[in-house]
Amino acid sequence: MKYFSTRGADTELSFEETVLTGLAPNGGLYIPTEIPQLPADWQEKWAPYSFQQLSVAVLSLFISPSEIAIEELTALVEKSYKTFRHPDVTPLKKLEGGDNRRYILELWHGPTFAFKDVALQLLGNLFEFFLQRRNANKKEGETRERLTVLGATSGDTGSAAIYGLRNKADVSIYILHPKGRVSPIQEAQMTTVTDANVHNIAVKGTFDDCQDIVKTLFSDREFNAKHHLGAVNSINWARILAQTVYYFLAYFHLKKSIGTEFLPFLQFVVPTGNFGDVLAGYYAKRMGLPISSFAIATNENDILTRFWKSGRYEKVSSEPLPVGEAAPANGASDGHQGGAGVKETLSPAMDILVSSNFERLLWYLAYEDSGDRQKACETVNGWMTNLKSNGKAQVPVSVLGTARRDFVAEKITDAQTLQGIRDTFTESNYVADPHTTVGIVAAKVVRNNRYDEALIECTPDTVQIILSTAHPAKFSEAVTKALGGLASFDFEKDVQPEEFKGLLAKERRVIEVENSPDAVKKVIDEIEPGKAHEIEVGV
Ligand SMILES: *Cc1c(COP(=O)(O)O)cnc(C)c1O
Repeated sequence: MKYFSTRGADTELSFEETVLTGLAPNGGLYIPTEIPQLPADWQEKWAPYSFQQLSVAVLSLFISPSEIAIEELTALVEKSYKTFRHPDVTPLKKLEGGDNRRYILELWHGPTFAFKDVALQLLGNLFEFFLQRRNANKKEGETRERLTVLGATSGDTGSAAIYGLRNKADVSIYILHPKGRVSPIQEAQMTTVTDANVHNIAVKGTFDDCQDIVKTLFSDREFNAKHHLGAVNSINWARILAQTVYYFLAYFHLKKSIGTEFLPFLQFVVPTGNFGDVLAGYYAKRMGLPISSFAIATNENDILTRFWKSGRYEKVSSEPLPVGEAAPANGASDGHQGGAGVKETLSPAMDILVSSNFERLLWYLAYEDSGDRQKACETVNGWMTNLKSNGKAQVPVSVLGTARRDFVAEKITDAQTLQGIRDTFTESNYVADPHTTVGIVAAKVVRNNRYDEALIECTPDTVQIILSTAHPAKFSEAVTKALGGLASFDFEKDVQPEEFKGLLAKERRVIEVENSPDAVKKVIDEIEPGKAHEIEVGV
C-alpha cells in the first residue's frame, strides 16, 4: 500500500515515509492509493476480536507486511494499548433514559483521559519502531537518526502527545504552553511527566505566541535540519488509521448486545474539530462497515456545519447575521490563525477556524465528481488556494450532494452544552464532558430534525452511537458550572478519578522561557538529546 498527497499524486510514499513526513511538501495530506475492502469473512471472523486484534486486522490492510510484519504490528499494538485502563480499550455503554436508542463510545480510558491517546499511543511506538530500525542498519560511527517533536498546546492535547512519546528511544518532545494560562489539572498532567526525553516549556505569553514560536522554528531551515523537527498533529495518517478501529469494535459490541435489528440504521455522532475522528469513521464505512450515516457535531466554531448547509467552506460566515446578533468587534477575537476567527468555547479542543483533515474528505468528494485522481488533486488544490487567499471556497452542487449522502452537521452553542450536561445527568445519570455533550445534544437535534436536502434517514429506529472524547474531570470547570448546583451531584465522588487526586502534589519539571523564538531555540540547543534538564520550577 502506497500513499500520495491530496494536492498532487505524482509521488507515492511508503507507510513509513508517510508517517514520518506528516504534511506533504506541497501542503497536501497523504491518503492511500486505494481504500482496501474488508475480507469476505470479516463478519464472522472478526466478531469475537478484542480491540487489539481488530487493530491488527484493520491496520494490516493499510500497511504492507514487507514494511511491518504481522508479528511486529501485533507487538506494537499490544504495547500501545497496555496503557489503557479498560479491558475493552474503548467500551460501548448504553445511555439509559431519555431516548434509549443511544449509546456512548468512551474513548478516554487512556493515560491522559482523552480520546487522542488512542492514536498517540500508537504513533509514539511507530516513531520509535521506524527510528530504531533505521539506526540498527547504521554502520559504526554513523550518526543515529533522531526526531525532535515540537508542538504548542493550550492545555487540552499537549499531555496526550507527551504520554505518547515519553521514554521513546531516539525521540525527544518539547511542548510549549502559555505560562499560567492552562488549567491546573492539565498543567499538572503535562509537567509531572519526568522522563528524560520530555521537555515542558512554559512561555511567558499567550497560546498564540506559543504557536508562532513553533511555526518560526519549523521554518528555520538550519535549526530544523540540526534537530530533525517533527510534529504529531492531527493530520498524521497513522492517527486517522488508529482511530478507525473503534468504529469496528462498537459495531460488533452493539451487534452482540442487540443482534442486527439496528441495521441498516446506525449513525455515529462525532464531536468534531479537525475532522480526524469522524474521517476515521468515513474510512471504516468506505471499507465496508455498515454505517448508515455520520452526524458531525460542532461547537460555535462551525465552519463544517456551515459547509453542509451551504457548500461554502469559509473561515467566516458570509451570510448576513440574524437580526439582533451583533457583529464581533474588530480585534475582539483571539485570532488563532490571523484575523477574526476562533471563538473560545466550553469545548476548547474543538475550537478551530478550519478543519485540517477535512481536505481528505474534500479529495474523495472531488474524485467522485471527476473519477480522475490527478484531476481531483487539482480541484482540491484550487479550493485550498481559494481558502488561503480569499478565506473561502465554494464546491459545486454535485459535490455538496455527495457530502450530504453520508453526513449531516449541527452546531451546538455553549448554552445548549451546559443544559445538555444537566439533562444527561438527570435523564441518564451520566456525567459527560462538554465535548461529548456537544455530541449528545447534536444527536437529539438530528433525530428530531428533517434533512430534506440530505439523503440521510434518521428514523425513530436509528441507533445513535455518540463518541465520548474526554473524561469529565478533564474539563471540571464546565461540568461543575452545569452540575454544581444539584444536590445529587458530588464532583469528588461522581467524577474525580483516583489518578487525578494526587497529581497536583507530584513532582514537576518545566522550563520557563521568555516569549521569543530565540529563547526556545537556546533551550533546545542546550539540552543534550535524551538527557533530562536540570532547571526545575514550582512544586
Ligand atoms: C481533539 C478533540 C476533539 C476533536 O477531534 P477531531 O479529530 O479534531 O475532530 C474532540 N474532543 C476532544 C476532547 C478532543 O481532544
